Amino acid sequence: MAVFEKAPAKINLSLDVLYKRPDAYHEVAMIMTSIDLYDHIELTPIQSDRIEVTLYSRYVPNDERNLAYKAAKVFKERYRIRAGVHINIEKNIPVSAGLGGGSTDAAAVLRGLNEMWQVGASLHELAELGGVIGSDVPFCVYGHTAIATGRGEKIRHLPSPVPCWVILAKPDIGVSTGTVFRHVDLKYIRHPNTEKIMASLYHGDFMQLCENIGNALETTTMGLHPEVQYIKEKMVQAGAAGALMSGSGPTIYGLVQQQGKAQRIYNGMRGFCQEVFMVRTLV
Ligand code: ATP
Repeated sequence: MAVFEKAPAKINLSLDVLYKRPDAYHEVAMIMTSIDLYDHIELTPIQSDRIEVTLYSRYVPNDERNLAYKAAKVFKERYRIRAGVHINIEKNIPVSAGLGGGSTDAAAVLRGLNEMWQVGASLHELAELGGVIGSDVPFCVYGHTAIATGRGEKIRHLPSPVPCWVILAKPDIGVSTGTVFRHVDLKYIRHPNTEKIMASLYHGDFMQLCENIGNALETTTMGLHPEVQYIKEKMVQAGAAGALMSGSGPTIYGLVQQQGKAQRIYNGMRGFCQEVFMVRTLV
């Protein structure tokens, strides 16, 4: 029987880079929340002991480099499964955008295979397994709202933001997370106030949230790609209550509570970017 999984994108309400660790990874603190922009994953059992991936995307490979493939591989190895799966990915989340597209596909494959092969692993186990694939995968296994620390593998759940509209504007460039981290200069980054952002979530205070969202990678990505700063300025001018770059960019998101205002911002941003979405946070 085929299994279907929805794979939601995420935005960063905060992203802080604390220090570089002896193992060369950066210690981070990221508050992330899921949004209702989805890839759709379909898993179908196949006769041979193989992993097949199909998807229509110019930018994403359908071989062992695909994070969905990697997820199936680590899952099969961990639980010693001798069976095959066909993974079809309907890709709606922009690629290399800072929206966690690959990570959420991988997380959906872990959840879906757990169901298809009736392994009975907990989400906690799947999140731990996801950490082998990528730093954002553990968060994506759970979704909703959480703070991820360490490399991204330590997850603490948080209340979701007050329901609001999210306008996503992606400049027509792809940003490699690795390149941005290589260019980060820890002496010059602006640290977000993670505690204040968490407090605004606990208090359900939308305006306090909008005033405090922050991303320590913004200046680095904007230094490499000035159009990202331009799009953020346009998002603020268009009337977003809060605006920030998600992940390592280049997507800028704007938050707003009123639907009419969200629609106006969406229309306005379409004058500057080809890829613009108007979505909602998930509760
Ligand atoms: P993050 O916010 O987690 O840093 P991102 O949104 O910036 O992620 P992705 O869309 O996940 O970036 O893609 C990053 C890279 O991963 C691209 O080079 C892409 O080719 C590769 N990739 C592998 N598998 C996938 C997948 N299933 N979906 C999207 N990208 C994938």
